Amino acid sequence: MTTRSDCLALDASDALAPLRALFDIPADLIYLDGNSLGARPRTALARASEVIAAEWGTQLIRSWNTAGWFDLPKRLGQQLAPLIGAGADEVVVTDTTSLNLFKALAAAVHLQQDSGRRVIVTERENFPTDLYMAQGLCRWLDDGYTIKLVDSPEQIAAAIDGDTAVVMLTHVNYRSGRLHDMAALSAHAHAHGALIIWDLAHSAGALPIDLQGANADFAVGCTYKYLNGGPGAPAFIWVPQRHQARFTHPLTGWWGHAAPFAMAADFAPVDGIGRALCGTQPIVSLALVECGLEIFEQTSMAALRAKSLALTDLFIALVEQRCAAHGLTLATPRKHAERGSHVSFGHPHGYAVMQALIAHGVIGDYREPSLMRFGFTPLYTSYTDVWNAVEILREILDDHAYDRAAARGAVT
Ligand SMILES: *Cc1c(COP(=O)(O)O)cnc(C)c1O
Repeated sequence: MTTRSDCLALDASDALAPLRALFDIPADLIYLDGNSLGARPRTALARASEVIAAEWGTQLIRSWNTAGWFDLPKRLGQQLAPLIGAGADEVVVTDTTSLNLFKALAAAVHLQQDSGRRVIVTERENFPTDLYMAQGLCRWLDDGYTIKLVDSPEQIAAAIDGDTAVVMLTHVNYRSGRLHDMAALSAHAHAHGALIIWDLAHSAGALPIDLQGANADFAVGCTYKYLNGGPGAPAFIWVPQRHQARFTHPLTGWWGHAAPFAMAADFAPVDGIGRALCGTQPIVSLALVECGLEIFEQTSMAALRAKSLALTDLFIALVEQRCAAHGLTLATPRKHAERGSHVSFGHPHGYAVMQALIAHGVIGDYREPSLMRFGFTPLYTSYTDVWNAVEILREILDDHAYDRAAARGAVT
Protein backbone atom coordinates (compact mmCIF):
# COMPACT_ATOMS: atom_id res chain seq x y z
CA MET A 1 0.00 0.00 0.00
CA THR A 2 1.31 3.41 -0.97
CA THR A 3 0.90 6.14 1.66
CA ARG A 4 0.91 9.91 1.54
CA SER A 5 4.34 9.99 3.12
CA ASP A 6 5.63 7.68 0.36
CA CYS A 7 4.48 10.33 -2.12
CA LEU A 8 6.17 13.10 -0.17
CA ALA A 9 9.37 11.07 -0.18
CA LEU A 10 9.12 10.52 -3.94
CA ASP A 11 8.81 14.28 -4.44
CA ALA A 12 11.74 14.97 -2.14
CA SER A 13 14.01 12.75 -4.24
CA ASP A 14 12.59 13.77 -7.65
CA ALA A 15 15.31 15.45 -9.75
CA LEU A 16 12.60 17.04 -11.94
CA ALA A 17 10.70 18.61 -9.04
CA PRO A 18 12.43 22.04 -9.36
CA LEU A 19 11.06 22.43 -12.90
CA ARG A 20 7.59 23.10 -11.49
CA ALA A 21 8.83 26.52 -10.40
CA LEU A 22 9.18 27.41 -14.10
CA PHE A 23 5.38 27.36 -14.39
CA ASP A 24 2.74 29.61 -12.93
CA ILE A 25 0.06 27.29 -11.55
CA PRO A 26 -2.42 28.54 -8.93
CA ALA A 27 -1.38 27.13 -5.54
CA ASP A 28 -4.84 25.78 -4.75
CA LEU A 29 -5.16 23.75 -7.96
CA ILE A 30 -4.11 20.24 -8.88
CA TYR A 31 -3.80 20.60 -12.62
CA LEU A 32 -4.25 17.28 -14.43
CA ASP A 33 -5.18 18.63 -17.85
CA GLY A 34 -1.81 19.52 -19.37
CA ASN A 35 -2.61 17.01 -22.12
CA SER A 36 -5.33 19.38 -23.31
CA LEU A 37 -3.92 22.81 -22.43
CA GLY A 38 -0.44 22.96 -20.93
CA ALA A 39 0.21 25.25 -17.96
CA ARG A 40 1.77 28.67 -18.44
CA PRO A 41 5.55 28.98 -18.39
CA ARG A 42 6.46 31.89 -16.10
CA THR A 43 8.44 33.52 -18.91
CA ALA A 44 5.37 33.74 -21.18
CA LEU A 45 4.01 36.90 -19.57
CA ALA A 46 7.22 38.87 -20.05
CA ARG A 47 7.65 37.47 -23.56
CA ALA A 48 4.09 38.49 -24.53
CA SER A 49 4.71 41.93 -23.15
CA GLU A 50 8.00 42.22 -25.07
CA VAL A 51 6.37 41.16 -28.35
CA ILE A 52 3.42 43.48 -27.88
CA ALA A 53 5.10 46.52 -26.34
CA ALA A 54 8.58 46.53 -27.86
CA GLU A 55 8.46 44.48 -31.05
CA TRP A 56 4.99 45.48 -32.22
CA GLY A 57 4.59 48.75 -30.33
CA THR A 58 7.94 50.36 -30.98
CA GLN A 59 9.54 48.56 -33.88
CA LEU A 60 6.28 48.04 -35.73
CA ILE A 61 6.70 46.49 -39.18
CA ARG A 62 10.49 46.53 -38.89
CA SER A 63 10.18 43.58 -36.47
CA TRP A 64 9.58 41.16 -39.34
CA ASN A 65 13.33 41.54 -39.91
CA THR A 66 14.76 42.98 -36.70
CA ALA A 67 12.89 40.74 -34.23
CA GLY A 68 13.10 37.65 -36.45
CA TRP A 69 9.36 37.31 -36.92
CA PHE A 70 9.71 36.08 -40.46
CA ASP A 71 11.97 33.15 -39.53
CA LEU A 72 10.10 32.23 -36.37
CA PRO A 73 8.29 29.13 -37.74
CA LYS A 74 11.64 27.62 -38.75
CA ARG A 75 13.53 28.68 -35.63
CA LEU A 76 10.90 27.10 -33.41
CA GLY A 77 10.99 24.01 -35.61
CA GLN A 78 14.72 23.71 -34.95
CA GLN A 79 14.10 23.95 -31.22
CA LEU A 80 11.35 21.34 -31.36
CA ALA A 81 13.24 18.91 -33.63
CA PRO A 82 15.27 17.07 -30.94
CA LEU A 83 12.13 16.33 -28.92
CA ILE A 84 10.62 14.35 -31.80
CA GLY A 85 13.66 12.82 -33.47
CA ALA A 86 13.57 15.19 -36.43
CA GLY A 87 16.35 16.88 -38.38
CA ALA A 88 16.82 20.60 -37.70
CA ASP A 89 15.52 21.64 -41.12
CA GLU A 90 12.58 19.27 -41.18
CA VAL A 91 9.99 20.98 -38.94
CA VAL A 92 8.05 24.26 -38.95
CA VAL A 93 5.71 25.59 -36.29
CA THR A 94 2.71 26.99 -38.14
CA ASP A 95 -1.06 26.85 -38.62
CA THR A 96 -3.23 24.36 -36.74
CA THR A 97 -2.86 20.61 -36.38
CA SER A 98 -5.97 20.17 -38.52
CA LEU A 99 -4.51 22.29 -41.34
CA ASN A 100 -1.09 20.66 -41.14
CA LEU A 101 -2.70 17.25 -41.30
CA PHE A 102 -4.54 18.32 -44.45
CA LYS A 103 -1.23 19.38 -46.03
CA ALA A 104 0.50 16.14 -45.02
CA LEU A 105 -2.38 13.99 -46.27
CA ALA A 106 -2.59 15.87 -49.56
CA ALA A 107 1.18 15.49 -50.04
CA ALA A 108 1.10 11.78 -49.22
CA VAL A 109 -1.84 11.13 -51.52
CA HIS A 110 -0.03 13.03 -54.26
CA LEU A 111 3.09 10.87 -53.84
CA GLN A 112 0.86 7.81 -54.28
CA GLN A 113 -1.10 9.19 -57.23
CA ASP A 114 0.36 6.87 -59.86
CA SER A 115 0.24 3.79 -57.65
CA GLY A 116 -3.50 3.34 -58.14
CA ARG A 117 -3.87 3.07 -54.35
CA ARG A 118 -6.94 4.95 -53.14
CA VAL A 119 -7.49 3.92 -49.51
CA ILE A 120 -6.59 5.89 -46.37
CA VAL A 121 -6.38 3.63 -43.32
CA THR A 122 -7.05 5.12 -39.90
CA GLU A 123 -8.85 4.33 -36.65
CA ARG A 124 -12.51 4.95 -35.91
CA GLU A 125 -11.33 6.05 -32.45
CA ASN A 126 -8.94 8.64 -33.91
CA PHE A 127 -9.46 12.24 -32.83
CA PRO A 128 -12.48 13.51 -34.83
CA THR A 129 -10.74 16.40 -36.58
CA ASP A 130 -8.25 13.95 -38.09
CA LEU A 131 -11.13 11.94 -39.55
CA TYR A 132 -12.96 15.06 -40.68
CA MET A 133 -9.90 16.45 -42.46
CA ALA A 134 -9.40 13.14 -44.28
CA GLN A 135 -13.09 13.10 -45.23
CA GLY A 136 -12.85 16.66 -46.50
CA LEU A 137 -9.81 15.87 -48.63
CA CYS A 138 -11.37 12.72 -50.11
CA ARG A 139 -14.54 14.57 -51.06
CA TRP A 140 -12.51 17.38 -52.60
CA LEU A 141 -10.27 15.06 -54.62
CA ASP A 142 -13.31 13.24 -55.98
CA ASP A 143 -11.01 10.56 -57.38
CA GLY A 144 -12.24 7.38 -55.71
CA TYR A 145 -10.48 7.86 -52.39
CA THR A 146 -12.06 6.06 -49.44
CA ILE A 147 -11.30 5.90 -45.75
CA LYS A 148 -11.00 2.52 -44.05
CA LEU A 149 -11.85 2.88 -40.34
CA VAL A 150 -10.23 0.23 -38.17
CA ASP A 151 -12.09 -0.68 -34.97
CA SER A 152 -9.24 -1.73 -32.68
CA PRO A 153 -5.49 -1.13 -32.50
CA GLU A 154 -4.85 -4.86 -32.92
CA GLN A 155 -6.54 -4.80 -36.36
CA ILE A 156 -4.50 -1.98 -37.88
CA ALA A 157 -1.72 -4.13 -39.31
CA ALA A 158 -4.13 -6.48 -41.05
CA ALA A 159 -6.06 -3.55 -42.54
CA ILE A 160 -3.01 -2.33 -44.49
CA ASP A 161 -2.81 -3.94 -47.92
CA GLY A 162 -2.01 -3.35 -51.59
CA ASP A 163 -4.81 -0.77 -51.89
CA THR A 164 -3.56 1.35 -49.00
CA ALA A 165 -2.19 4.70 -50.10
CA VAL A 166 -1.72 6.27 -46.68
CA VAL A 167 -1.93 5.13 -43.08
CA MET A 168 -2.87 8.04 -40.79
CA LEU A 169 -2.51 7.33 -37.07
CA THR A 170 -2.44 9.28 -33.84
CA HIS A 171 0.52 8.12 -31.75
CA VAL A 172 -1.33 8.33 -28.38
CA ASN A 173 -5.11 8.03 -28.42
CA TYR A 174 -6.78 11.12 -26.95
CA ARG A 175 -9.36 9.09 -25.07
CA SER A 176 -7.73 5.87 -23.89
CA GLY A 177 -4.13 7.08 -23.73
CA ARG A 178 -3.10 4.02 -25.75
CA LEU A 179 0.35 4.40 -27.37
CA HIS A 180 1.17 2.84 -30.75
CA ASP A 181 4.50 1.27 -31.71
CA MET A 182 5.59 3.88 -34.25
CA ALA A 183 8.59 1.99 -35.61
CA ALA A 184 6.74 -1.31 -36.07
CA LEU A 185 3.66 0.20 -37.73
CA SER A 186 5.76 2.45 -39.97
CA ALA A 187 7.82 -0.54 -41.13
CA HIS A 188 4.65 -2.55 -41.67
CA ALA A 189 3.05 0.20 -43.75
CA HIS A 190 6.19 0.51 -45.90
CA ALA A 191 6.39 -3.26 -46.38
CA HIS A 192 2.94 -3.00 -47.98
CA GLY A 193 3.83 0.00 -50.13
CA ALA A 194 1.88 2.55 -48.05
CA LEU A 195 3.02 5.88 -46.61
CA ILE A 196 2.41 6.70 -42.96
CA ILE A 197 1.48 9.97 -41.22
CA TRP A 198 1.73 10.31 -37.44
CA ASP A 199 -0.26 12.79 -35.37
CA LEU A 200 1.82 13.53 -32.26
CA ALA A 201 -0.77 15.76 -30.53
CA HIS A 202 -0.76 13.66 -27.34
CA SER A 203 2.84 12.46 -27.46
CA ALA A 204 5.10 15.40 -28.39
CA GLY A 205 6.64 16.60 -25.12
CA ALA A 206 5.16 13.65 -23.23
CA LEU A 207 7.49 10.84 -24.29
CA PRO A 208 10.59 10.27 -26.43
CA ILE A 209 9.78 10.17 -30.15
CA ASP A 210 12.14 9.13 -32.93
CA LEU A 211 10.52 10.04 -36.26
CA GLN A 212 13.74 9.54 -38.23
CA GLY A 213 14.55 6.28 -36.46
CA ALA A 214 11.05 4.99 -37.22
CA ASN A 215 11.45 6.09 -40.86
CA ALA A 216 8.03 7.75 -40.68
CA ASP A 217 6.86 9.71 -43.72
CA PHE A 218 5.13 12.78 -42.25
CA ALA A 219 4.07 14.02 -38.83
CA VAL A 220 2.00 16.80 -37.30
CA GLY A 221 1.19 17.81 -33.73
CA CYS A 222 0.10 20.42 -31.22
CA THR A 223 2.20 22.85 -29.21
CA TYR A 224 -0.54 23.83 -26.74
CA LYS A 225 -0.73 20.42 -25.02
CA TYR A 226 2.43 18.92 -23.47
CA LEU A 227 4.64 21.57 -25.10
CA ASN A 228 2.96 24.35 -23.08
CA GLY A 229 2.82 26.87 -25.93
CA GLY A 230 -0.44 28.56 -24.88
CA PRO A 231 -4.12 28.35 -25.90
CA GLY A 232 -4.48 27.85 -29.64
CA ALA A 233 -0.72 28.15 -30.18
CA PRO A 234 0.35 27.20 -33.71
CA ALA A 235 0.98 23.52 -34.42
CA PHE A 236 3.85 21.81 -36.26
CA ILE A 237 4.48 19.75 -39.35
CA TRP A 238 7.44 17.48 -40.03
CA VAL A 239 8.57 16.60 -43.54
CA PRO A 240 11.78 14.54 -43.68
CA GLN A 241 14.57 15.56 -46.05
CA ARG A 242 13.89 12.58 -48.29
CA HIS A 243 10.35 13.80 -49.08
CA GLN A 244 10.92 17.55 -49.20
CA ALA A 245 11.67 17.91 -52.92
CA ARG A 246 8.42 16.15 -53.85
CA PHE A 247 6.34 17.63 -51.02
CA THR A 248 3.40 19.47 -52.57
CA HIS A 249 0.08 20.48 -51.04
CA PRO A 250 -2.81 22.62 -52.27
CA LEU A 251 -2.47 25.45 -49.69
CA THR A 252 0.25 27.17 -51.67
CA GLY A 253 0.28 30.57 -50.04
CA TRP A 254 2.97 33.19 -50.35
CA TRP A 255 4.91 32.10 -47.26
CA GLY A 256 5.75 28.85 -49.05
CA HIS A 257 6.99 30.72 -52.12
CA ALA A 258 10.66 30.73 -53.12
CA ALA A 259 10.67 34.55 -53.24
CA PRO A 260 7.57 35.90 -51.46
CA PHE A 261 8.54 39.53 -51.88
CA ALA A 262 9.20 39.20 -55.58
CA MET A 263 5.39 39.32 -55.72
CA ALA A 264 5.35 37.07 -58.77
CA ALA A 265 2.03 36.02 -60.28
CA ASP A 266 2.93 32.32 -60.29
CA PHE A 267 3.55 30.08 -57.32
CA ALA A 268 7.00 28.49 -57.09
CA PRO A 269 7.71 26.54 -53.87
CA VAL A 270 10.78 27.34 -51.82
CA ASP A 271 13.28 24.50 -51.33
CA GLY A 272 13.12 22.70 -48.02
CA ILE A 273 10.65 22.67 -45.14
CA GLY A 274 9.55 26.26 -45.85
CA ARG A 275 7.19 24.93 -48.50
CA ALA A 276 4.97 23.60 -45.72
CA LEU A 277 4.10 27.18 -44.80
CA CYS A 278 1.05 28.96 -46.14
CA GLY A 279 0.45 32.54 -44.97
CA THR A 280 1.16 35.10 -42.26
CA GLN A 281 1.34 33.65 -38.77
CA PRO A 282 -0.15 34.87 -35.45
CA ILE A 283 3.17 36.21 -34.16
CA VAL A 284 2.11 36.97 -30.58
CA SER A 285 0.93 33.40 -30.08
CA LEU A 286 3.79 31.90 -32.09
CA ALA A 287 6.40 33.74 -30.02
CA LEU A 288 5.10 32.17 -26.80
CA VAL A 289 5.77 28.66 -28.13
CA GLU A 290 9.44 29.34 -27.44
CA CYS A 291 8.74 29.78 -23.71
CA GLY A 292 7.38 26.25 -23.56
CA LEU A 293 10.10 24.70 -25.73
CA GLU A 294 13.06 26.20 -23.89
CA ILE A 295 12.02 24.48 -20.65
CA PHE A 296 12.76 21.12 -22.29
CA GLU A 297 16.42 22.14 -22.60
CA GLN A 298 16.71 21.69 -18.82
CA THR A 299 15.98 17.97 -18.88
CA SER A 300 15.67 14.99 -21.23
CA MET A 301 12.70 13.19 -22.71
CA ALA A 302 14.01 9.96 -21.13
CA ALA A 303 13.86 11.51 -17.65
CA LEU A 304 10.40 12.93 -18.36
CA ARG A 305 9.16 9.57 -19.61
CA ALA A 306 10.42 7.77 -16.51
CA LYS A 307 8.56 10.20 -14.25
CA SER A 308 5.46 10.16 -16.44
CA LEU A 309 5.22 6.37 -16.14
CA ALA A 310 5.82 6.55 -12.38
CA LEU A 311 3.01 9.13 -12.05
CA THR A 312 0.52 7.19 -14.15
CA ASP A 313 1.43 3.90 -12.38
CA LEU A 314 0.88 5.62 -9.03
CA PHE A 315 -2.45 7.12 -10.09
CA ILE A 316 -3.79 3.80 -11.38
CA ALA A 317 -2.65 1.96 -8.23
CA LEU A 318 -4.11 4.57 -5.84
CA VAL A 319 -7.45 4.78 -7.63
CA GLU A 320 -7.72 1.00 -7.60
CA GLN A 321 -6.75 0.81 -3.91
CA ARG A 322 -8.76 3.71 -2.57
CA CYS A 323 -11.81 3.92 -4.85
CA ALA A 324 -12.23 0.19 -5.38
CA ALA A 325 -15.91 0.08 -4.40
CA HIS A 326 -17.04 2.69 -6.90
CA GLY A 327 -17.17 0.91 -10.23
CA LEU A 328 -14.42 2.85 -11.99
CA THR A 329 -13.10 1.06 -15.06
CA LEU A 330 -9.60 1.66 -16.36
CA ALA A 331 -9.61 2.54 -20.10
CA THR A 332 -5.84 3.00 -20.36
CA PRO A 333 -3.37 0.16 -21.04
CA ARG A 334 -1.38 -1.09 -18.05
CA LYS A 335 1.64 -2.00 -20.19
CA HIS A 336 4.18 0.81 -20.25
CA ALA A 337 4.93 0.22 -23.93
CA GLU A 338 1.25 0.95 -24.69
CA ARG A 339 0.65 3.94 -22.41
CA GLY A 340 1.01 7.67 -23.07
CA SER A 341 0.95 10.25 -20.27
CA HIS A 342 -2.74 10.41 -19.42
CA VAL A 343 -5.05 7.94 -17.72
CA SER A 344 -8.78 7.56 -18.29
CA PHE A 345 -11.30 5.91 -16.04
CA GLY A 346 -14.89 5.23 -17.02
CA HIS A 347 -17.72 5.89 -14.55
CA PRO A 348 -21.48 5.94 -15.24
CA HIS A 349 -21.61 9.51 -13.90
CA GLY A 350 -18.22 10.50 -15.29
CA TYR A 351 -19.27 13.97 -16.35
CA ALA A 352 -20.84 14.84 -12.98
CA VAL A 353 -17.91 13.40 -11.00
CA MET A 354 -15.45 15.40 -13.11
CA GLN A 355 -17.44 18.58 -12.50
CA ALA A 356 -17.30 17.90 -8.75
CA LEU A 357 -13.54 17.29 -8.98
CA ILE A 358 -13.07 20.60 -10.78
CA ALA A 359 -15.18 22.35 -8.13
CA HIS A 360 -12.79 20.88 -5.53
CA GLY A 361 -9.70 22.12 -7.35
CA VAL A 362 -8.72 18.98 -9.28
CA ILE A 363 -8.80 19.81 -12.97
CA GLY A 364 -9.09 16.94 -15.40
CA ASP A 365 -11.59 16.66 -18.21
CA TYR A 366 -14.32 14.49 -19.63
CA ARG A 367 -14.61 12.68 -22.93
CA GLU A 368 -17.59 10.79 -24.24
CA PRO A 369 -18.60 8.11 -23.44
CA SER A 370 -18.39 8.50 -19.64
CA LEU A 371 -14.58 8.82 -19.46
CA MET A 372 -12.80 10.96 -16.89
CA ARG A 373 -9.41 11.90 -18.27
CA PHE A 374 -6.40 12.80 -16.12
CA GLY A 375 -3.21 14.13 -17.71
CA PHE A 376 0.16 13.85 -15.97
CA THR A 377 2.77 16.36 -17.02
CA PRO A 378 6.10 15.31 -15.50
CA LEU A 379 7.42 18.87 -15.81
CA TYR A 380 5.02 20.12 -13.15
CA THR A 381 2.91 17.32 -11.64
CA SER A 382 4.10 16.02 -8.27
CA TYR A 383 3.56 12.62 -6.65
CA THR A 384 1.74 14.39 -3.83
CA ASP A 385 -0.58 15.99 -6.42
CA VAL A 386 -1.49 12.46 -7.47
CA TRP A 387 -2.14 11.41 -3.88
CA ASN A 388 -4.27 14.46 -3.14
CA ALA A 389 -6.24 14.14 -6.37
CA VAL A 390 -7.14 10.53 -5.59
CA GLU A 391 -8.16 11.47 -2.02
CA ILE A 392 -10.51 14.15 -3.34
CA LEU A 393 -11.89 11.72 -5.91
CA ARG A 394 -12.45 9.13 -3.16
CA GLU A 395 -14.29 11.62 -0.95
CA ILE A 396 -16.55 12.71 -3.82
CA LEU A 397 -17.38 9.12 -4.66
CA ASP A 398 -17.85 8.03 -1.01
CA ASP A 399 -20.20 10.95 -0.33
CA HIS A 400 -21.95 10.83 -3.74
CA ALA A 401 -21.07 14.53 -3.79
CA TYR A 402 -21.77 15.07 -7.45
CA ASP A 403 -24.74 16.48 -9.28
CA ARG A 404 -25.92 14.00 -11.88
CA ALA A 405 -27.81 16.74 -13.64
CA ALA A 406 -24.81 19.08 -13.92
CA ALA A 407 -25.26 21.33 -16.93
CA ARG A 408 -22.62 20.91 -19.63
CA GLY A 409 -20.35 23.67 -20.86
CA ALA A 410 -19.64 24.00 -24.57
CA VAL A 411 -16.16 22.59 -23.90
CA THR A 412 -15.97 19.48 -21.69
C1 LIG B 1 -5.81 18.09 -29.88
C2 LIG B 1 -5.77 17.33 -31.17
C3 LIG B 1 -5.94 17.99 -32.39
C4 LIG B 1 -6.28 19.46 -32.40
O1 LIG B 1 -6.33 19.99 -33.67
P1 LIG B 1 -6.54 21.57 -33.85
O2 LIG B 1 -6.45 21.80 -35.26
O3 LIG B 1 -5.46 22.23 -33.02
O4 LIG B 1 -7.86 21.92 -33.25
C5 LIG B 1 -5.83 17.26 -33.55
N1 LIG B 1 -5.56 15.93 -33.53
C6 LIG B 1 -5.41 15.26 -32.37
C7 LIG B 1 -5.11 13.81 -32.39
C8 LIG B 1 -5.51 15.94 -31.15
O5 LIG B 1 -5.38 15.29 -30.01
